[in-house]
Amino acid sequence: PVVPGVAGRCVVVAGLARSGLATIRALKAGGARVIAWDDNQPARTAGAEAGAEVLAPDAIDWKAVDLLVAAPGLPLHFPRPHETVRRARAAHVAITGDVDLLFAACGEARYAAITGTNGKSTTTALLGHIIGRIAGTTAEGAPARAAVGGNLGIAPLALPALGAADLYVLELSSYQLDLTSRFAADVGVLLNLSPDHIDRHGDFAGYVAAKRRLFDQQPAGATAVIGCDDGPSIEVFDALAAEGRLRVIPIAATRPVAGGVWVDEDFRLIDDLNGGARPVMNLAGIDTLRGRHNGQNAAAAYAAARALGLAPDDISAGIRSYPGLAHRLETVGHIGPVAIVNDSKATNAEATRPALDAFRRIYWIAGGVAKAGGIASLRPWFDRVAHAYLIGEAAEGFSRTLGDEVRWTASGTLEAALDQALADIAADAQAGEGTALLLSPACASFDQFKSFEHRGDVFRAAVAARLEGRS
Ligand code: ADP
Repeated sequence: PVVPGVAGRCVVVAGLARSGLATIRALKAGGARVIAWDDNQPARTAGAEAGAEVLAPDAIDWKAVDLLVAAPGLPLHFPRPHETVRRARAAHVAITGDVDLLFAACGEARYAAITGTNGKSTTTALLGHIIGRIAGTTAEGAPARAAVGGNLGIAPLALPALGAADLYVLELSSYQLDLTSRFAADVGVLLNLSPDHIDRHGDFAGYVAAKRRLFDQQPAGATAVIGCDDGPSIEVFDALAAEGRLRVIPIAATRPVAGGVWVDEDFRLIDDLNGGARPVMNLAGIDTLRGRHNGQNAAAAYAAARALGLAPDDISAGIRSYPGLAHRLETVGHIGPVAIVNDSKATNAEATRPALDAFRRIYWIAGGVAKAGGIASLRPWFDRVAHAYLIGEAAEGFSRTLGDEVRWTASGTLEAALDQALADIAADAQAGEGTALLLSPACASFDQFKSFEHRGDVFRAAVAARLEGRS
């Protein structure tokens, strides 16, 4: 995309990860003079390569700057504003983010935007898949070319431009939303809200306020899809419904919601959008959407797709063929009926909970760098754990939490844990349908791996090597 209205203007881009580099290119294409800064040297080099002039915040003539484009990760308020932000504010320079710039560049397109504490990537990828599957078909109102990205995958300003795409499906974090003031989605989705990421927003109210922007900026008559499975989200639903400005659709994974979409006790997806509570499909048996939390994601994607004009049958076919995302309850192999599952993305106990909830009998690999609270909050699921294999720095602390409630082994490394688990499963007469060998670490990866992706890739490769040795 080419950012309009910036020819001859001076724009500072702060924070030069993927999104910052795409921003530099889109601004240069629009004829701007682009100055860039990142606190890390390698990122600055990449910024220069992308065509920006690299200048430290104190070397920039802020009086001559027209706009600061901040990266989503750049602190705006907490714990303290980044120096570029502080100087921009002092000089009354407007601050924005790449989502507003994409909207300025491709305003005529339609937009579906997904936010929430958990499930954003899954719902975004699922909705993108549902739409992409029918790309080019003539279903009435169906978008022809969807571009999928945002916080997930491709940065907003690296997505195909309007023309190549006519619908943008965007995953938006609260950080990204915080930087918007224009972005107006045709369909906005809020999955859930739980106290997380409050570091940068100061407190939970600030976090909720950032998410609310998505809806407050929508035009009258646009659609808001709101998860109604937790208290704070229900408050947002009630407030938007009372305002009456938007078409507000409730979705839920844990209870019926009149006029909305939900998942019933038998894991069937129920469509009550036009009344009549009609079962659309059974989600049970779809490997890539295991667990009730994925029921919430599926209900949200379904409701959003309906709001975009897709037909129920097309949507359910899309849900059925969803390939899933790597590292999120990703099935990477089978030993008979036992699934081997890579959930490396689960870097805290809250993210591991749905994984433990998705299986009946679990050989659980956990550990790494523990978060505050460890795994104590997972105690209600301990009776499903046949054996735990503890790795990394957290092993000792986790073993104390497990105590004699759960059988555990201090495995040390991921590969040792895998081998021990495979041996135990081979000796387990009860291992059957609903049994899993699960990597869901409830920990950051940095003691033994570069990232959660690296950890998951190592696990997948190790599993493939072991399974190959068997056949
Ligand atoms: P995000 O992009 O918001 O981080 P993902 O779709 O990548 O979310 O899912 C990350 C993890 O969060 C999953 O592995 C799962 O453990 C958990 N999760 C996914 N969807 C939900 C949901 N709707 N509610 C609660 N937890 C979820």
